[in-house]
Amino acid sequence: MDQRLERLIAQSKSMVFFGGAGVSTESGIPDFRSQDGLYRQQWSCPPEQIISRSFFERDPEEFFRFYRAKLIVKAAAPGAAHRRLAALEAGGKLRAVVTQNIDGLHQAAGSRAVWELHGSVLRNYCMGCGRFYPVEYIEHSTGVPRCEACGGIVKPDVVLYEEALDERVLEGAVRAIAAADLLIVGGTSLAVYPAAGLLRYFGGSELVVINATPTPADAGASLVLQGKIGRILGE
Ligand code: NAD
Repeated sequence: MDQRLERLIAQSKSMVFFGGAGVSTESGIPDFRSQDGLYRQQWSCPPEQIISRSFFERDPEEFFRFYRAKLIVKAAAPGAAHRRLAALEAGGKLRAVVTQNIDGLHQAAGSRAVWELHGSVLRNYCMGCGRFYPVEYIEHSTGVPRCEACGGIVKPDVVLYEEALDERVLEGAVRAIAAADLLIVGGTSLAVYPAAGLLRYFGGSELVVINATPTPADAGASLVLQGKIGRILGE
């Protein structure tokens, strides 16, 4: 437990957490940029290309092969960081979690105020008629998942590269960050835009970065803690 971090949390009246894939690596979901992250694994072309809108339209079969293998992780459970954040919200301390993750683990831990900048694998909609499908439908289908009602492609409600962020989510995240007095940034390389750009809306006094590796936000932070977020925040 880091005393400086705990003091900042104790003093805060409106704390917000901004996170990314590193929050879920301890739950067994690989991130994109660490040594053993998704991007270094063997695949026909770089995963960053596969999960782009143009690739999805060009080769949905290969998109879903990658998606099922790498982005839907079965039986992942929230880790210590997810649980601590949920407890901080329940205690009235944490106002919101803004996440780039699509795994739903913050909600699984009990967090309610979660702005999912990149959507969620748990929601899937037919591109033809809009019908909803749970994640299991994608998981248990083969090839390109099709709508039972109209035959349209069932697309995960996940923001692909080249796609715009949902405006309502973006506005909610900006409002939360702008109103925070303490912003904890954790488990994110801050390499993905526009998500990483949201940090500029923070006008509070205390910025804390908890990450395994250095980030562009370190220079402007009041506290930088390098290491595993589950251990640092979760204790
Ligand atoms: P990223 O892979 O670019 O960066 C992850 C960062 O977390 C790295 O800096 C790494 O050093 C750090 N990290 C890894 N494990 C950590 C740990 N246990 N404790 C502390 N730090 C740790 O991820 P990003 O910044 O979120 O951006 C990548 C994009 O990938 C996002 O848009 C996100 O939607 C998507 N993504 C999501 C998931 C998920 O939902 N779990 C998984 C992979 C990728």
